[in-house]
Amino acid sequence: KIALLLFLSFLTFGVRSQNTNSEIDKKVSELLSKMSTEEKIGQMTQITITSLEAKGKPGEFDLPKLNEAIQKYHVGSILNVPNPGAPTIKKWNEVITTISSEANKTRLKIPVLYGIDAIHGSSYTAGATLFPQQIGMAATFNTDIVKKGAEISAYETRASSIPWVFSPDLDLPRNPAWSRMWESFGEDAYLSSRMGEAMVKGFEGNDVGSKYNVASCMKHYIGYGSTTTGKDRTPSIIPERVLRQFDLTIYQAAIKAGAKSVMVSSGEINGTPVHASKYLITDVLKKELGFQGVVVTDWKDIIYLYTRHKVAENNREAVKLSVLAGIDMSMVPEDYSFYVDLLDLVNKGEVPMSRIDDAVTRILKMKFELNLFQTTVANLKDYPKFGSQEFIDASYDAAAESITLLKNNNAVLPLNKSEKVLLTGPTANSMKYLNGGWSYNWQGENSDTYAADKMTILEALQNKIGKENVLYTHGADLANFDDAEIAKTIEMAKGVSKIILCLGEKNYTETPGDISNLYITASQSKLALALSKLNIPIVLVLTEGRPRLISDFEENMSAVVQCYLPGNEGARALADILYGEVNPSGKLPYNYPRYPNSLEKYNRKYTESLGDDEQNNDAKYEKSYSPQFEFGTGLSYTTFAYSNLKIDKPEVSNSDDLKVSVEVKNTGKVSGKVSVLLYLSDKVASITPEVKALKRFEKINLASGESKTVSFTLNQKDLQFVNNDLKWISEKGTFKIQIEGLTQEFTLK
Ligand code: BGC
Repeated sequence: KIALLLFLSFLTFGVRSQNTNSEIDKKVSELLSKMSTEEKIGQMTQITITSLEAKGKPGEFDLPKLNEAIQKYHVGSILNVPNPGAPTIKKWNEVITTISSEANKTRLKIPVLYGIDAIHGSSYTAGATLFPQQIGMAATFNTDIVKKGAEISAYETRASSIPWVFSPDLDLPRNPAWSRMWESFGEDAYLSSRMGEAMVKGFEGNDVGSKYNVASCMKHYIGYGSTTTGKDRTPSIIPERVLRQFDLTIYQAAIKAGAKSVMVSSGEINGTPVHASKYLITDVLKKELGFQGVVVTDWKDIIYLYTRHKVAENNREAVKLSVLAGIDMSMVPEDYSFYVDLLDLVNKGEVPMSRIDDAVTRILKMKFELNLFQTTVANLKDYPKFGSQEFIDASYDAAAESITLLKNNNAVLPLNKSEKVLLTGPTANSMKYLNGGWSYNWQGENSDTYAADKMTILEALQNKIGKENVLYTHGADLANFDDAEIAKTIEMAKGVSKIILCLGEKNYTETPGDISNLYITASQSKLALALSKLNIPIVLVLTEGRPRLISDFEENMSAVVQCYLPGNEGARALADILYGEVNPSGKLPYNYPRYPNSLEKYNRKYTESLGDDEQNNDAKYEKSYSPQFEFGTGLSYTTFAYSNLKIDKPEVSNSDDLKVSVEVKNTGKVSGKVSVLLYLSDKVASITPEVKALKRFEKINLASGESKTVSFTLNQKDLQFVNNDLKWISEKGTFKIQIEGLTQEFTLK
């Protein structure tokens, strides 16, 4: 009897938990059946809040306009921020309350879905915790840190009454000049997959409808980060084989992690704008990958199909093309052209109702999953941790694990606290250069949006070694030459034994960040070269979103510290690293090029290294592969010895896993964290193999003298590549595993 009871209650419980999903499906189809065509198309429309703002009263609604948007056009989604800048959570609460009460006046009371660019934290909310940008998060090689960052970002975004974030960025930059490289996880697809999946899990948690979780949005599907020129929103040429082997796997991992939505790339691949590609959106994403979530366009991108891409004559044609391609929601920030034209297309039978129903089903499902029919406005009492010390500490930890020591000649670092230093360089005394774009406003160009207690590098150094020990002058401008300032800097340097030189980039986001020259600006090189002549050790500190070339003066630098864009606590973390209170453990998530014509990736093909290997060591080849710093570079104040690289069998068959282990010992005097990276090379393959490819990583912490065995399991998929028939296959033969300097070979039978 007891067994039967248990069995029955198991059944009931099982059925009930399944019901949650099917209950939502039922609610969605009931609601859908009540909706008019106009109401459905309204759900597919997303407008920007600024188009609803009252004239002359930034941040305030033009109530008749809001009323028109929701009552007349049935708008289902709103995005972005009121002008100006970043509202407080209280202000957000008012904004969402106003929108919510307008939605409540509609016939079906469907809540409006609010979306925001929460990029490295809840970046459009005043006082929110700002983390390192994604490129720095990748350098931590620590998925726990990345997940925690997304959890905090979700918490603070929900505290702002916003349930949907346009993050993570899953772009794969192939040209480091690309102006959004810092929004990505760097050049490696495996690293990006692991980080993307961690971020999705952090945002969405186990229940995306809880008051501390948000729906994520993978972007920008697909190939957006790979423009040939490196300029934003210019064409990409990516063979489908390559797209599938690299770019698509990152999306697959995020979808598996539960990602609720995706934003389409503004770019074109091989001549087809992605917004017009039925193949990529419907056939690959929705059908093949089984993606059930919402597909939203990027900013005005349906309009751009005719104004920029020229694949449509007019808006109506563009709307038809993209809706038939599979987009579910149009980010049409300023007008209702999408609504008007789509309505006409449906009424005339040019877009079938089944396509509209598919789109609206996805949107309503997300609204139910987010629990928006119950709550749209946050109760501020539920969010006592907003901006708390706990969250600030998490941001500090992320920065401390991301900062990457690339060079440290003669152990110039850590510095000695009693020594006077000259701190100089255009990025040394500003919060905005630590954060980059999407930081309390779009371009992140305002320095006055940061809380007074947030420290610049100058302030963090003064705090660490005392004001009297830090001489400071800005040394150079990011763009303009100032010889008098350089002369002054040289004069000041004469009194110190070390120089800390802070160089970087001006703030940018998207297209405004396009550059024609990957070298760091000439005004900064000039300062670096002038200081090099003094024979005083220079510690170069970089705050930059992409690797700006430094080969003109790098050899004169004693140490190089890459900070990426380390966020609000970045300067404190940097100061702790410079003075040895934190042992650096970041690793470079991309190859740092030396020359503008040598942009090889670490997982290059053999022919990209001609002149480097023995067979081809022919003097007539200029050494082509010589990055300034290679992917995975990251020094420590301690030393790690690797030994005993073992595999559990010398031969595997198609179904076998392979167990790999290695022993790592901290052989230095201080404790330290280290990311153990496992690379695999397929020695011979019918598609030219990569020299090596990252397959696993794990970050461990070792006390001085301590050793640990790190184990990895490789599976079949790790041995595969995509062939010319677009199939994942593996081929018999020898594979090589590399961890640090150690190698082991095995064969696939
Ligand atoms: C960007 C997206 C962003 C969207 C909404 C676009 O210009 O490409 O990354 O999510 O704007 O702000």
